[in-house]
Amino acid sequence: MPELPEVETVKKALNKIILNKKIKDVLIYRKNIIEGDVNYFKKTLINSKFTKVDRLGKFLIFNLDNDKAMLSHLRMEGKYIYKDNINKKSEYARIIFIFSDGTILNYDDSRTFGYMSIRDKKDYLKVPPLSELGEEANKNINIVKMFARLSKDKRLIKEVLLDQHIISGLGNIYVDETLFKSKISPFSKANLLTKKDIETILKNAKEILNLAIKHNGSSVHTFTWDNGKSGDMQNFLKVYGKKGESCPNCGHDFKKTFIGGRGTTYCPYCQKLKSDKYVLGITGPISSGKSTLLNELKKKGYKTYSCDEEVDNLYNDLLFKLELKKLFKVDSKEEIISLIKKDKSILNKLNNLIHPIIKKQIVSFIRKNTGKLAIEVPLLYQAGFDSLMDENILILTSKNKDYIVNRGEKGKEQFNLNKDLNYYQYKNKATYIIYNDGSLISFKKEINKLPQ
Ligand SMILES: [Zn+2]
Repeated sequence: MPELPEVETVKKALNKIILNKKIKDVLIYRKNIIEGDVNYFKKTLINSKFTKVDRLGKFLIFNLDNDKAMLSHLRMEGKYIYKDNINKKSEYARIIFIFSDGTILNYDDSRTFGYMSIRDKKDYLKVPPLSELGEEANKNINIVKMFARLSKDKRLIKEVLLDQHIISGLGNIYVDETLFKSKISPFSKANLLTKKDIETILKNAKEILNLAIKHNGSSVHTFTWDNGKSGDMQNFLKVYGKKGESCPNCGHDFKKTFIGGRGTTYCPYCQKLKSDKYVLGITGPISSGKSTLLNELKKKGYKTYSCDEEVDNLYNDLLFKLELKKLFKVDSKEEIISLIKKDKSILNKLNNLIHPIIKKQIVSFIRKNTGKLAIEVPLLYQAGFDSLMDENILILTSKNKDYIVNRGEKGKEQFNLNKDLNYYQYKNKATYIIYNDGSLISFKKEINKLPQ
């Protein structure tokens, strides 16, 4: 999605090519892009001229030579493509402005999420959407006011910086860059940041955006301007899109996670967390060392929750036993296990019963506690519980077949179950992967390498 520097680049390009040309016609292929009456939109534009293109946040403002202005937001994929010939319609042209000299301006938008609207020049800043925009991130923002506002905002700082009502112009790329430069974790809560933190964030956002403007924006995804020319800020990005690469400050790998549905790349070692709560999920195959890890974290001050333990407790719960009896005609763990041995489909049915109960427990554990929380879940990814965690650790074990087979019949079963579950397929979902080769000393060493 084009952010402030990219939209600024588009604005500059448009100001060079389309001003003072009489608009002869407007072809509209996708009405949903236009807010309000389509005929009014056309009527306002035809026979008038664009006199100047301005920008506010990520909005473009096309001033007309009458008392109106056309607002435009490119959203995900919108772009303007200028052509010298009326026949040169662009691939995803949704709206075409035809000028009287035969040149055209295509509004191209493969996903049609873009927005256009006619406003009165005299008050477009006073009505939505522009009236709702926060101050622009590339300008000097009053730190005292911003600190006062954010100290009441309990959302994560990443989400807050993306919220155009708070500060306008930042999107995913430049928020990740700003937080990396500020050495503040994207998981930090806005209300827990100090005035100094806010000052650092605002200063870095401004610097990064202005540098990006100088470089005509970042040409990542499909952003181009001025007929396919591209910006080169992507060469100066430090963290965005660099999952798995080494952090230039500390050498650890950059991690990628999702916050509010947005991909977020960060260095968990350099970027300090300011939060009253941090939730770490732990998973891995049977006998991989999940409880050892959980105990080590407990010693480090984590509050812990063990799924294995809680599932065992369920078998002492009367209501749960009744439910088991109803579904499987048995009510003890041993009996259920022997049923599963005979019929693997029982396991799925059992999981369908257990997962919602455990999920409820985990959610309430997270809600009730503050500080650092560690939650061990054997089927973290399979059950989709990883979305409840801020970060998660996958333990992979190179303990060989012999080790498990040495445990006799039980070991063999575990080995086969681990093979079925194939934890290696979840490597991409893990924030951290720890290898346990069976030696407690080296396993603890691995644990100590995690960010503190
Ligand atoms: Zn780092």
